[in-house]
Amino acid sequence: MMIAEVIVEVANSEVDKVFDYSIPNSMSKNLIGYRVLVPFGKRKIEGYVVGLKETSNYDKNGIKEIISVLGNEQVILPEMINLASFMKEKYHLKMVDCLRLFIPSQMRGEKDKHIYKKEYVLSEDYLEKLKYVNKNAKKQLEIVIYLQEKAIIESNKVKNFSASALKNLEKLGVITQKLSVSLRKPMENVLVGNSKPHVLTEIQKKALNDVGENGVYLLHGVTGSGKTEVYMQIISREINKGKTAIMLVPEISLTPQVLRIFKERFGETVAIIHSGLSLGERYDEWFRLFNGEAKIAIGARSAIFAPLKNLGVVIIDEEHDGSYISESNPRYNTFEVAKFRANYNDCSLVLGSATPSIETYYKVETGEIKLIELPTRINGKQLPKIEIIDMLGEIRAGNSTLFSRRLISKLEECFAKNKQAILFLNRRGYTSFMMCRECGYVAKCSDCDVSLVYHKTENRLICHYCGKKFKALTKCPDCGSSHIKEGAVGTENVVYQLEKLFPNIPIYRMDNDTTKTKNAHQKILNAFSNSKPAVLVGTQMIAKGHDFPDVTLVGIIDADQNLYQSHYKSPERTFALITQVSGRAGRSEFEGEVVLQTYSPKKYVYNFAANYDYKGFYKREINLRKATKFPPFSTILRVMFSGENEEIVKQQTKVCFDEILLIKKQNPNSFIYLDATKSPISRIKQKFRCQIVMRLNNENVENIIELVYNACDKARKKSVLCFVEINPSSIS
Ligand code: ADP
Ligand code: ZN
Ligand code: ZN
Repeated sequence: MMIAEVIVEVANSEVDKVFDYSIPNSMSKNLIGYRVLVPFGKRKIEGYVVGLKETSNYDKNGIKEIISVLGNEQVILPEMINLASFMKEKYHLKMVDCLRLFIPSQMRGEKDKHIYKKEYVLSEDYLEKLKYVNKNAKKQLEIVIYLQEKAIIESNKVKNFSASALKNLEKLGVITQKLSVSLRKPMENVLVGNSKPHVLTEIQKKALNDVGENGVYLLHGVTGSGKTEVYMQIISREINKGKTAIMLVPEISLTPQVLRIFKERFGETVAIIHSGLSLGERYDEWFRLFNGEAKIAIGARSAIFAPLKNLGVVIIDEEHDGSYISESNPRYNTFEVAKFRANYNDCSLVLGSATPSIETYYKVETGEIKLIELPTRINGKQLPKIEIIDMLGEIRAGNSTLFSRRLISKLEECFAKNKQAILFLNRRGYTSFMMCRECGYVAKCSDCDVSLVYHKTENRLICHYCGKKFKALTKCPDCGSSHIKEGAVGTENVVYQLEKLFPNIPIYRMDNDTTKTKNAHQKILNAFSNSKPAVLVGTQMIAKGHDFPDVTLVGIIDADQNLYQSHYKSPERTFALITQVSGRAGRSEFEGEVVLQTYSPKKYVYNFAANYDYKGFYKREINLRKATKFPPFSTILRVMFSGENEEIVKQQTKVCFDEILLIKKQNPNSFIYLDATKSPISRIKQKFRCQIVMRLNNENVENIIELVYNACDKARKKSVLCFVEINPSSIS
C-alpha cells in the first residue's frame, strides 16, 4: 500500500499536522505536490500531498483513502515543499500557510478557474459518422462544409453557427469540441515597441561579468548608474542558457514604466505578479510561469514564490526596501527565502541598491556577499547638489510657512526656466491629525488606537490603518470648543499652500489617495511630464524609479519625519529616502538641485546624505550598532498577541512572558532586553494587541528562538492570534 502525507486546507485552525491517507489502487501513485480531496471528520476537504511512504504509524484500518486528485498537475514543485518546511521551521509558521503562498488563491476551492475557449474541429472518423446526419439538415451540413474548408471553427466564430446544429453534430460524433485555455495577459496595452539592449559601459560590463553562476552579490550603484540595464542583461544571459529568472521590485516602484521596459525587452517571456492585477490575471500569469510559457517573473515580494523550475538568477532591486519583510501573516524575510531558492537551484542571488541596508553591507565586510560597484551616473552627470535648510532659522526670521525662503526662490527660478519641480513629503492627507486647542482632544479611530487624518477634498477624517471614514470635526466632542487645530502637514496641504503661492503653475499630487483607481498612477505621471513648468507633490510613491528629464529641482519638505520614529533603522531609512528622492533631479542634460528642509540640520545623517557619502554613513552606523548592540550584532524578536477580547490577549501574553522569563533565567547571557507591553498601537480593526519584545545576543540565538517558539505554543489559544517576527521593520 502507498501512503500519502497530506497537509489539509482548514481555514483559521491550529491544525498543522501531516495526515496519512492511503492512495487507492486506481490512482497514480506519484502524487507529490498534487492537490487532493480527502475525507476529514465528516467533511471532504482539499489538501496537498507533501510526501509518500509505504507504511504508516497509524492503525491501517484507521487510515482513510484519498477521494480524488484535483486538477492533473503537480502544482507544488518539490523545491517548494522543501521551502515550505524551511519557512515553517524558521518563522514558526503553519505548513499550510506557506503552501498557500505558492499557488494563486483562485486555485483553491474545487472549481477550475480557467477561462476556456470553445472551438470545434472535425472528428478523426467524421467521414464514417457522416452517414448519420440527416440529408435535410442544412445547417449541420453547412458546418461540415465549413470545417472541411477551414479545419476549425474558432471561438470567436462559434456564434455564427446554429448552437443546436453544433450540438447535434457533436452528439453524432462528426465534430469534436476542443478546449484550450485562454490566458488573460495584463499590461498588453502598455507595449509600445521593442527595447533594444544598450551597449554596456565598461563599468556595467565589468559588473555583468562579475556576477557568477552562484553566490550572493550586491550591486551598489548610485541612482541613474544603469543598474536596471545590468539586471536585464544578467537575465538575458540566463534565459539564453535555458534558465529562468525572478526579478523583485518594491511594490511601490512596480510602476507601469518599469513593467513596460521589461515587457518591451522580453515580451511574452515575462509574467507579472502584482497586487494591481485582478485575481483572474494573477492566476493566468502564474499559470504561464508554471507551464513554462513565461520564464521571467517580475513582481513585488510574493513573486519570490513564482513556480519556476531551473532558476538561473534571483534579483532583488532596492534591496534595502522595508517591503521585503512582510508585515502581514505569514511573515517572512524575502532575502532569506530568495537565498534558499538560489541555493536550491545553485544559482546566483543579486541584490541592488544605491543605499544598501546596513545589515547587507555588513555581510559584504564579513565576506558573505560579494560587492560590485557602479559609482557613476550613466550620463556622466554629477549627482544633484543637496542644500540643507534650517527651518528653525526660518521661524526665527519670521517665516513660519511650509516653505523656506530658499525653496521658494528656487521654485521661482525653476519655473522661470520652464522646468519642473518635485516636492516630497512623507504624509498623505491634509494634516496629520485634528486637535482641540482648548482641551487637547485628538480625533481617533473607533476601531484602532490611532489618530485620524484629515482629508480636505473629501472633508473627512480617515483612519490610515483600517480605512474607516469619519466626519470632520467642527466642534470638540469633549469640551464643545470650536478651536480645532490642524497638526503636521500632509500632501494635500502642501498643494493647497502652493496654489496660493503659484496660482498659475500646474500642480499635480501623487499619493495613496490620488492613485486608487486603475491607471491613475500613469495618468498623473503623463499629465505632469507633459506640462512645463509644473510641480509634482507626492509621498514615497514618487521617490522611486521615475525618469523625468525636465525635473531640475527637488524639495524635501520635512526630512525629519522618519527620524522621529524610534526605530534603530530610522537614520538608514532617512539616508535612503533622501538619496532616492534626490535621484529624481537632474537625470538628463540639465543640472539638478535639492533643497532639504529640516528642524535638526546638525543630525549626522543629513551631512552624509548631502555628500552622498554612503560609506561614511555606513561606518558611523555600524559602529553605533556595535556599541549599542543592535542588529546585525544582535537579533530582535517580537512576539505579538492580538484578539478581540482584551483580557484574554493580556492573559496569553502573560503566560508566554512567564515562559520566556524562565528561558531567560536559564540563559541569562542571551538576553540584552526583554519586556512585555501593550503594542504602541494597542488596537487595530477592533483587535487588541500586546507584545513581547526582546533583544538577543547572536551567540546561540537559534536555540533561544526555538525555545521562544515553544513558549508561544504554550500560550496559544483559539481566540488569540500569536505570531513572531525576527528583526521586524516596525514595532508599532
Ligand atoms: P538605476 O537603476 O541605476 O537608477 P537606470 O537603469 O534607470 O539606473 O539607468 C538610468 C538611465 O540610463 C536609463 O534611462 C537607462 O535607459 C540609461 N542607460 C542604462 N545603461 C545605459 C547604457 N549602457 N548606455 C546608455 N544609456 C543607458
Ligand atoms: Zn481604524
Ligand atoms: Zn476640546
